[in-house]
Amino acid sequence: LKEKNAKSLWHPMAHPADSLNNPPAIITGAQGVRITDVDGHEVVDGVGGLWNVNLGFSCQPVKDAIARQLDVLPYYSTFRGTTNDAVIELSEVLRDFYAPDGLTRAFYTSGGSDSVETALRLARQYHKVKGEEGRTKFLSLKKGYHGTHMGGASVNGNANFRTQYEPLLPGCFHIPAPYTYRNPFNEADPEKLAALCLQAFEDEVAFQGAGTIAAFIMEPILGAGGVIPPHKSFMPGVREICTRNGILLIADEVITAFGRTGSWTGSRHWGVQPDMMATAKAITNGYFPFGAVMIADHVAEVFENDKTGKAAIGHGYTYSGHPVGAAAALACLEETLRLNVKDNAAERGTELHNGLLGLMQTYDVIGDVRGGHGLMCAIELVSDRATKSPIDKASAGKIQEEAYKAGAMVRVSGPNIILSPPLVLTSDDVQVILSSLETGLKAVS
Ligand code: PMP
Repeated sequence: LKEKNAKSLWHPMAHPADSLNNPPAIITGAQGVRITDVDGHEVVDGVGGLWNVNLGFSCQPVKDAIARQLDVLPYYSTFRGTTNDAVIELSEVLRDFYAPDGLTRAFYTSGGSDSVETALRLARQYHKVKGEEGRTKFLSLKKGYHGTHMGGASVNGNANFRTQYEPLLPGCFHIPAPYTYRNPFNEADPEKLAALCLQAFEDEVAFQGAGTIAAFIMEPILGAGGVIPPHKSFMPGVREICTRNGILLIADEVITAFGRTGSWTGSRHWGVQPDMMATAKAITNGYFPFGAVMIADHVAEVFENDKTGKAAIGHGYTYSGHPVGAAAALACLEETLRLNVKDNAAERGTELHNGLLGLMQTYDVIGDVRGGHGLMCAIELVSDRATKSPIDKASAGKIQEEAYKAGAMVRVSGPNIILSPPLVLTSDDVQVILSSLETGLKAVS
């Protein structure tokens, strides 16, 4: 398998030339919160797949729902004049789920990057339909991650995901993220930093001209950029600036929706209602590639009341509203609510965060610990705490490798180790993650 893998798979983010000597783990099985590799080694999945396997890997009601749907209607889309009963049923349930976020309609996609792209495209189209032809630009946060399509890459705030794909979409501008550990203002106080970042947003709006901006897109807690939770004043401040300037607020909740933050959505965590929300990942818990952009009434109504014909111009995917995805999503949502996973995320998240703060006392290689909002945690690795110089790649890789051998999958992302386990894990599983990570930290200390 390792030889075949090296010969015939292209692994983004791992040079194929390395893949025989340093092959990716070949995962052959998964049950509950544990995964097993081809050598029979079983570990706790400290990253929940890719932040998406909230319910673990053994969700029988989801498997049953998929099997039932495959028998009845394996495919039909919501693109171009058709819909299906499975996706209508899902939409009704999502409408209730998202009512506190003020979001009532769903546009279906095949994953997170599609959801971001859809939200960006709908934002431009919304302004055109309203006759605001000049509103085409997008603002976003440095360190934000918004997927891999060209629109998403353009609003991404991390050079690694941008520079090699340039030229990107024109008209995308980035403002500093409320990242207390490193920021251009040298401000470590979260509330003061939030105010400075909001001021930078205001300044950029004034500089660009409010009437040129279509939307602001942000993750309520930045994920792939290194788990960066803003001060609670930040997202409400963003909402206020957007409203005052006629700018749509798109919440990218591909990671944060469905309970991961200890709240049902990240926006709700901060008491904010966005105009659109991009979701995917845990909507089907990894059982099917699927996503949804949730849309507020006042946005949908502009399309529905259109007299110009511009709203009818097509945006959609072959797999929009896939009935098997819809059946999987509905079963996932029912399980998510039945198990009330957000409360376990909050409680286990506190244990994990406290455990990481404990490790920081012993291991100087940890420069910063971030968490405290459900099961989204990260440690930032440094070679020197005083200068905050990032750790070298090989040492970060070694921590991941040793933690894996010791019993947990953790994930290096830039200078950070990210933890985003399934929301159904137990306190004992949290301890396995912490002790395995400690084994990795010892190996480089
Ligand atoms: N937005 C955010 C916030 C994400 O974290 C991701 C994926 N990690 C995406 C968009 C892209 O999702 P996908 O990989 O499903 O295309």
